Amino acid sequence: MIGTEASPGIAIGTAILLFGKENQTASTDKKSKDQEIELNRYYQALNEALDDVKDLKNKVKDKIGRKEAHIFSFQEDILRSEDFSNSIEDFIKKENFSAEEAVKRVIRKYVAQLVENGDSYLQVNEDDLKDVGDRLLKLLQGQEIKINIEKNNIIIVTKKLNPSQIARFDTSKVLGIVTAEGSATSHAAILADSLNIPAVVGIGEENLQKIKQGDKLIVDGHEGLVHLNPNKDILLRYQKKLEQDRDKKQKLQKYKNKKLTRSDGTQIYISGNIGNSKEAATVKNQGGEGIGLFRTEFLFLNQNTPPTEEEQLETYREVLQVFPEDPVIIRTLDIGGDKDIPGLDLSGEENPYLGYRAIRVCLDYPDFFRQQLRAILRAAAEGNVKLMYPMISSLEEVRAANSLLREARGELDAAGKEYGELEVGIMIEVPAAIAMARELAREVDFFSIGTNDLIQYAVAVDRRNERVKGLFTPFHPSVLRMVTKTATAAKEANIKVYMCGEAAGEKLLLPFWLGLEIDQLSMNPSKILEAKRILSQWLEKDTQQVVEEVLSNNTTAEIQYYLSRLFEDD
Ligand code: PEP
Ligand code: MG
Repeated sequence: MIGTEASPGIAIGTAILLFGKENQTASTDKKSKDQEIELNRYYQALNEALDDVKDLKNKVKDKIGRKEAHIFSFQEDILRSEDFSNSIEDFIKKENFSAEEAVKRVIRKYVAQLVENGDSYLQVNEDDLKDVGDRLLKLLQGQEIKINIEKNNIIIVTKKLNPSQIARFDTSKVLGIVTAEGSATSHAAILADSLNIPAVVGIGEENLQKIKQGDKLIVDGHEGLVHLNPNKDILLRYQKKLEQDRDKKQKLQKYKNKKLTRSDGTQIYISGNIGNSKEAATVKNQGGEGIGLFRTEFLFLNQNTPPTEEEQLETYREVLQVFPEDPVIIRTLDIGGDKDIPGLDLSGEENPYLGYRAIRVCLDYPDFFRQQLRAILRAAAEGNVKLMYPMISSLEEVRAANSLLREARGELDAAGKEYGELEVGIMIEVPAAIAMARELAREVDFFSIGTNDLIQYAVAVDRRNERVKGLFTPFHPSVLRMVTKTATAAKEANIKVYMCGEAAGEKLLLPFWLGLEIDQLSMNPSKILEAKRILSQWLEKDTQQVVEEVLSNNTTAEIQYYLSRLFEDD
C-alpha cells in the first residue's frame, strides 16, 4: 500500500482499528409497522453497545493507556445520553422508522449540529459519533464486534487523526500509525514525528478497508509504504532495515555535542520543536541546543478548562530544567486551523486556516491572553526564555500584542511577582508579513520563519489536503525567495532570523539555509542529529554559490534537481 511518509522509521506490529470505520452496514427497510419491536430492538442494541464500549475501554486502558481509553468514555456518554435515546424514540414513534433508520438519522443530525455550530455536543467529535452509529447498526443487524488487543506492538490504523488524538497515545505501546487521509505537514503528522512514531498517511479509503483488526503490519515511514500481513521475505528485509536504522542512529551520536561554527566565526544553532514539556528531554538527547518552538497550544488540547497561569508556569519550568541556559522560545497559543480547544468553539469554519486563528483569537480574548503572557514573563525570570507571536500579518497585531505584554508586566508588578526581561519575536508565516518585513523588524527582536504555513499561504495550498500535496513543497521558488527576503530584511535591521517550519530540517535545503545565514534552525528532534551531520560537512563550503544558483532557477523541479545533485555522494 502506498501513502505519504509522514514520520520516518520502521514499525512492525499489530493493527488496531481504533476509531472505527465509516458506516458500512447494509441498508435495511426504512419504515417499520411495529414500533414496539423497533424500540425493543434499539434498546437491546443499546445495552450491547454499552457493554461493548466498556469492554473496549478497559482493553484499551490496559494495552494502550488511560488517556486513550478516555475516547471511549465520550462514546459511552453519547450512548447514555437521554437526548440521544429520546431522539431515536421520536423517529421510531412519530415517523414509523426502523431502529436502523432512526439511528442513522440521529447520528446525521448530531454530526450536522457539530459541523454547523461547531457545537461539540458532549465534547465528542464526528468520528466518535459515526463510530457509535456504526456500532449500533452492526448490533441491530446481528453482526458481532470483536476487538482483540493482545499485543503491545500496536499500529494505529484509522481514517484520519487529529493532533489531540495523537497527543493521547502512550508512545511506549504505539509503534506506528497508518491513516487513510492526511498530509505530511498536518499537525498530527508533525506530532507523530516528534514522538518518534513512524507514520504513513494518505493510504486511501480502499486500502484502509482491507486492513482488519489484529492484522500484522509493517509501516515504512521512510518510503511511505505499508505492508499488510507481509510474507517471511519482506519481514526479514524489514527486520534488517530496523537494525540498519539503529546502526545509523548510533553513528550519528558523535554529532550530539558538535557546535556548528561558520568560517566567519558565527554559530548556527540547531534546536528542537516541542509540543509538551516531556519532549524537551528528547531534544536534549538528540543534541538540540535549546527549543526553537514550543507549540503551547498542545497544553490546551484534551482538557475542558485551560491550564491556569501557575500550571503553565510549571510546564515552562519543566522545559527550563532541561535547558537552564540554552534559549527556549515559547510561542503563544496558536489555535484554529487544524487545532481546536474545548470552550472556544472554533470548529465548523469553512476555511479554518484563513479564519479565526492564533494571534487573531488571542487579541480577542485579552484576559485569557495576558494570563499566558504573565506565565511566560514569570518563566523568563528563571531561564533564557524568548516569546514569540504566531501568524502575524500586520504591524497593528504586533503592537496590540506588545501592549498586552506591557499590561501583563504591570499586573505582575502590582501583584509583586517576579518576572524576567525577554526577547520578543514573531513568526513569519503569512506573505503579508514578508511584504512588511522591514517595518516589522523595527518592532521585534527576532523573526522565526514558519515554512509550513508560509508554503500554504504563499502557494495557496491547504497543508492537510492530499489532493494538492504535490504543490506543497519548500522547493517552490516563490517560497525560497520569500525566505530570502525575510532573512535580508532581518539582517538589514540587525535582528536575528530563525526558522522553525518542517523545511528547517529538510536535508537538501540545509546548505541554502546556511548560505542565507539563518541564525537558528529548529526542527523535530528526530531530524537534529542528521541535520548536524550534513551542516558540519557544509560549513567550509561555498554556500553563497548555492544561494545564487537556487535563486537563479525559476521552477521547483530545477531547484530540486540542482540541490539533489549536491548530495549525489551522500
Ligand atoms: C509553521 O507554520 O511553519 C510552524 C512552525 O508552525 P505550525 O506548524 O505550528 O503552524
Ligand atoms: Mg504555523
